[in-house]
Amino acid sequence: MVHFVGAGPGAWDLITVRGERLLREADVIIYAGSLVNKELLQVKKEDCAVYDSAYMTLEEVLKVMEEAEKGGKMTVRLHTGDPSLYGAIKEQMDELDRRGISYEICPGVSSFSGAAAALKLEYTLPEVSQSVIITRMEGRTKVPEKESIRSFAAHRATMVLFLSTGLLKELTGELLAGGYPKDTPAAIVYKASWPEEAVYRCTVETLAATAEANGVTKTALIVVGDVLEGGRAAGYERSRLYDPEFTTMFREGTKKDGETN
Ligand code: SAH
Repeated sequence: MVHFVGAGPGAWDLITVRGERLLREADVIIYAGSLVNKELLQVKKEDCAVYDSAYMTLEEVLKVMEEAEKGGKMTVRLHTGDPSLYGAIKEQMDELDRRGISYEICPGVSSFSGAAAALKLEYTLPEVSQSVIITRMEGRTKVPEKESIRSFAAHRATMVLFLSTGLLKELTGELLAGGYPKDTPAAIVYKASWPEEAVYRCTVETLAATAEANGVTKTALIVVGDVLEGGRAAGYERSRLYDPEFTTMFREGTKKDGETN
C-alpha cells in the first residue's frame, strides 16, 4: 500500500493527525526534499528507509514503491502542502494502477491556506470577492491558452499564484492587461508557516520591485485582490450567517415573517 500524504506548508505541526500516524507506521518514506520540512521525519520508525525525491526521477520513485510493495511494506509518499495542487501525483497514481498497487491520499494544509494565515486574511469577503483563482504563470510547464492570467484577471477576483516568483514583471503585465488597476493590493508570502516566514505587502504594480528589494526568488506565493485591503476599507458586507436579523437553520432572527433573508 502506498499513501500519498500532504505534509502541510512547512511547520512540522501543520501535518494532519492522520498524516503523522502514517509517517509513524511507514516502512518507506519518499519525501519531496525541496519543500518538505525534514523535522517531519523525526517520528519515523528506526528502520524506516527514507528517500529524497528531489534527487530521483519518476521511474526511480516507482521502483522504490514497487520493491516495497513486493516486500509487503507500507510506503508514504510525502508531498508538500496538499498533494492535489501541483503535486505531480497523477503520473504516479497512473503507474501504480498499471502495476496493480493500491494507494490512498491523505490531504494536507496547502500553502495557500498557510499564506492566508500569515496575512491574517479571509480570501472571500462578501461584496468584494467570493472566488479564489488558484493558478500559476507559465514556466517550463505549459498553461493552457484559455487559462491565461490575463483572462482570469478580468474577473478581479482574489487570485493566488503558485510557482511564479521568478516571473513577477511578466505577471504584473498580465494582471494589468487583464483589468486589475495598478494599485490593486498584492502580497508576497515567503515560506508561510516556516520560522523564516515573511510577508511583503505591495501592489500589482510593485510586485517585482518588492521581491527584488527583499531578495525573494522562490518558495513564495503571490496573492492579489481587494480582499487584501485593510479592515473596513475593503468595503465588505458583514456575513448574513451571524447577522442578528437573519434566521438560520440553527437560530431564530429578529426579522419578521414575510421578510426575505
Ligand atoms: N502542493 C503544494 C504546492 C506545490 S508547488 C501546496 O499545496 O502548497 C510549489 C510551490 O508552492 C512553490 O513554488 C511556492 O509557490 C508554493 N509554496 C509551497 N510551500 C510554500 C510556503 N510555505 N510558503 C509560500 N509558498 C509556498
